[in-house]
Amino acid sequence: MSEAGSMFTLQFDEAICASCPSGACLVKCQYLEADREQAKREMLKIFRGEDSRVLQECVTCYACEEYCKRGNHPFYLITQRREEKGILTAPRAITRQWINIGEPRGKYEVGEIKERALSFGFMPQFKDIVKGKLFEDVMPGYFFGQEYFCNVVYIHFANTAVIKERLPRVIRNIQELGVKEVVFMHDECYAAFSSLAPAFGMEVPFKPIHYFEYLYQRLEGLRGDIRPLHIRVAYQRPCSNRLCPRTHRWVPKILDLIGAELVTRTYQDENALCCGSIFRAMYGYDLAADVQARNIEDIVKSGAEYCVFNCHGCQNALSDRLARKGVRPIHMVELCRMAIGENPGFEVP
Ligand code: SF4
Ligand code: SF4
Repeated sequence: MSEAGSMFTLQFDEAICASCPSGACLVKCQYLEADREQAKREMLKIFRGEDSRVLQECVTCYACEEYCKRGNHPFYLITQRREEKGILTAPRAITRQWINIGEPRGKYEVGEIKERALSFGFMPQFKDIVKGKLFEDVMPGYFFGQEYFCNVVYIHFANTAVIKERLPRVIRNIQELGVKEVVFMHDECYAAFSSLAPAFGMEVPFKPIHYFEYLYQRLEGLRGDIRPLHIRVAYQRPCSNRLCPRTHRWVPKILDLIGAELVTRTYQDENALCCGSIFRAMYGYDLAADVQARNIEDIVKSGAEYCVFNCHGCQNALSDRLARKGVRPIHMVELCRMAIGENPGFEVP
């Protein structure tokens, strides 16, 4: 870790775990077994730097960050201890390859920035969907590129050192744009500035806004343009949303506003199941195939006509198989544009 990175220490309080009445972080984990006492014991062992089976068994779904309602950061702690002990979650070559993807290369793009701007992370594909009336108050005030990429994905790879090194630079780069508020179109980027950075004591000198909140407010302002969709919609929640669970409440509110019915799934809310794309990169075929098959079966069984995605990674992982089963995949932004009569790229029902 660089000298700068060593300044940032994870805020985690051992006493909070010692007095925890639930051990919810591991009791609710979908990938390893633990009762309340075992959960507390394992978290305390991890905190003290002792060996714990959790460091071997955790598949990095991020969910314990949501399950812990007591303000500790169980998954960030697991990640940090794995890193200290050299317990890699993926083969070294794959980890290196992923880390290289986020390396700044001077290929960023910055639009006409005012006090409020839109962040596309490092995903240019947002340029194709972030259009129309919903965004006309901010566009073309956008930016994207590795220089503005949150790097949070590397907690899947037990690598907080690279985040501690790069994220402060990213924060500086955004600050130098002169923005006061940033609407993050990438869920994980929002989580970086609202959860991970504060958990490691990094100051964030602008207000992060989740795009769900932004969409809801814009739709409210455009109520007169909304044509209720009258469709049944399943929602595929991404792992990153476990780091900013308060934003999850916007999903039913948005769908209600645009006249879409949110169907009931087995794998939703706290019980959401990973799309499997990161599992494929890290743990091979079997785990990825298992969670993908369970998600697809669950969505089809729910009777949904559409599956709405928050994350392009999840959308890429599940779209083809959903479409073959007759469920239309769509990003939340596209669904909202459809509701105000804008063409999202296919025929409006
Ligand atoms: S991390 Fe949170 S849920 Fe887990 S034992 Fe500690 S306080 Fe309880
Ligand atoms: S990140 Fe997921 S798999 Fe790992 S311990 Fe937390 S809940 Fe379990």
